[in-house]
Amino acid sequence: MKLRIEIKDMLREEIRGLLPYEVVPFKGKIKLDIMENPYDLPSAIKDEFLRELKKLSLNRYPDPTANGLRVALSLYLNVDKEMIILGNGSDELILDLLLTFGRGKIVYPEPTFAMYGILAKIAGQEPVGIPLREDFGLDAESILKVGQEGIIFIAYPNNPTGNLFSQEAIIRIIEEGSCLVVVDEAYCEFSGKTLLPFVKKYPNLIVLRTFSKAFGLAGARVGYLVANKEITDEILKVKLPYNLNAISQLLATITLKHGDLLRERIDKIKSERERVYKELQEIPGIIPYPSKTNFILFKVENLRGRDLFDLLVKEGILIRNLSNEGLLRNSLRLTIGKPGENDIFLESLKKIL
Ligand code: PMP
Repeated sequence: MKLRIEIKDMLREEIRGLLPYEVVPFKGKIKLDIMENPYDLPSAIKDEFLRELKKLSLNRYPDPTANGLRVALSLYLNVDKEMIILGNGSDELILDLLLTFGRGKIVYPEPTFAMYGILAKIAGQEPVGIPLREDFGLDAESILKVGQEGIIFIAYPNNPTGNLFSQEAIIRIIEEGSCLVVVDEAYCEFSGKTLLPFVKKYPNLIVLRTFSKAFGLAGARVGYLVANKEITDEILKVKLPYNLNAISQLLATITLKHGDLLRERIDKIKSERERVYKELQEIPGIIPYPSKTNFILFKVENLRGRDLFDLLVKEGILIRNLSNEGLLRNSLRLTIGKPGENDIFLESLKKIL
């Protein structure tokens, strides 16, 4: 007799309400939705990578701790290599942190990077979002109240609001919270601000970074965290042995070596951000928020955010629609592209409005 099996009955309760990560299929000409670097790698980096790739024994498993990259990073950041863990994107490290240290509540200001909440559920933890203040500032008091029982995640600068929280407020949370505090600095190369120097002082501080944005390696999936050895030793028990493939290890190591070639592009993106912000300010019905990242959040006044999003897609432009209720009502997020792309976006926006 054939047993009738209901897969849904076997599902973990936490997974039931989740949806697969959605990437909007897009055939338009301008993609400014997920904070990718608009510039492909300089050819000097690509050429060196291709030369070295030929020497790589791809039949062998990669170095489990990505030691070459770890050493290069330890020199770049001026920390011991034992304080660094590499991940398959910083997403993976968020999950590793939750699996290693999650003890109940995962607390973060809201709105913020959606993966803290999603991965918390996947890891069987309870996500708790604490609303940001109207001016997008941190409510340190409320975060501290619930954060004690778990891990606190703070994106610095924050995605999608683009602002830097007050450093004093974050330090207060680190000092008064008897829990781990993860400061996610995915956009720090654009903000020029970091809490990295505090890692040696605070045993409960973890700084998270990525090669996906300023370094332009989103396609290679490389992220890292920096924390004291007491923390990294525990995460190494949880991290998958060969999480970062040999090709990405090689590419990230070469890219880091040529950091000076990337500096100019970062500066270009920052000056474009300021130019686009000013131009948005000039458009009636658009309220842009100041940003320290490679994206700008803006609110639209006389149109539904979703409608503006759809009209832009018709023009071949993809940005991110964030039009939920509350703080992000009728808000959209624009990733800064190349000057020509930003111009086309601005022209289309004016035309639509
Ligand atoms: N943190 C923040 C704040 C982000 O915005 C993102 C990507 N959007 C990430 C982490 C993840 O980056 P990755 O997994 O590509 O390293």
